[in-house]
Amino acid sequence: MGNANMAWPDKVTICEVGLRDGLQNEKKMLSVEEKLQLLDATVESGVKIIEIGSFVHPKAVPQMADTDKVVQAMKKADGIEYRALVANLKGVERAHAAGLSKVKLTVSASEAHCINNFNSTPTKMIEGFATSVEFALKNSMTVSGAISTSFGCPFAGKVPVQQVENAVRGFLKLGITELSLSDTTGMANPRQVYELGSYMVRTFPQVSWVMHFHNTRDMALANIIAGMQAGVAVFDGAFAGLGGCPFAPGASGNVATEDVVHMLHEMGIDTGIDLLKAMSTARMAEKMVGHEAASAVLKAGRCEDLTKEKAQHQENK
Ligand code: ZN
Repeated sequence: MGNANMAWPDKVTICEVGLRDGLQNEKKMLSVEEKLQLLDATVESGVKIIEIGSFVHPKAVPQMADTDKVVQAMKKADGIEYRALVANLKGVERAHAAGLSKVKLTVSASEAHCINNFNSTPTKMIEGFATSVEFALKNSMTVSGAISTSFGCPFAGKVPVQQVENAVRGFLKLGITELSLSDTTGMANPRQVYELGSYMVRTFPQVSWVMHFHNTRDMALANIIAGMQAGVAVFDGAFAGLGGCPFAPGASGNVATEDVVHMLHEMGIDTGIDLLKAMSTARMAEKMVGHEAASAVLKAGRCEDLTKEKAQHQENK
């Protein structure tokens, strides 16, 4: 295969966000007990970073109103990072009170999106995070940042790179160096991901980059390939591809964790995740939310299964 110029990472880290980003867009509300079952299965499959929920206003996201209870009741396994999404100081305080040591603050890169939703600019919103970060650090918590609408905005369309960069600089000013470029609305395309990703990796070498894709328009796996080519090796996924899109009713949700794991393993890239176990977590989630998963590998099975079946068939002939 001579001219193989694409550079692949040996290992990719998958963060499971199904319990937060997946479930928050589902109509069916799961019980604390069901969430704990999904959490246990996720840990069992070998996932090392798990977003267990969010501490935001219960009226805004009723699916996440019981995150305190989930955190208090969960068995914490060693070597696993449990994090929650927060929007302000109140959220960080709740996370701390529940016993969590990692929170993620999120802002929209798009000025139009920020002004429409929060009547504020991204820069002002990030400045407003200072008290949250101060409280977190005082209490030995770590903080990461997420930049939503990095690749497209339902109000403004394409988001200028300068606006994404402003958000990055704002987070860096607060001392936050783990940042996620998020495509909440599923508008990213692979070329854009490669170009924006490469630019960010080059311009901000001090940042640990994460990418977060929704499969709204079926481009998520291609975007992950483009992200890896840009030098990113940490991606979010949600079991069974749960999540939907708040701006496109009926659209598919987050990229399915098991589809990402399957693709990476087929490519010889290690994830540390047991695919069969990830698939059974996804089936469990599918049953709990009461609708079919947006997951290719759950429908078609693994490539490996196909060849095994064929080999078996040959032997029986
Ligand atoms: Zn998302």
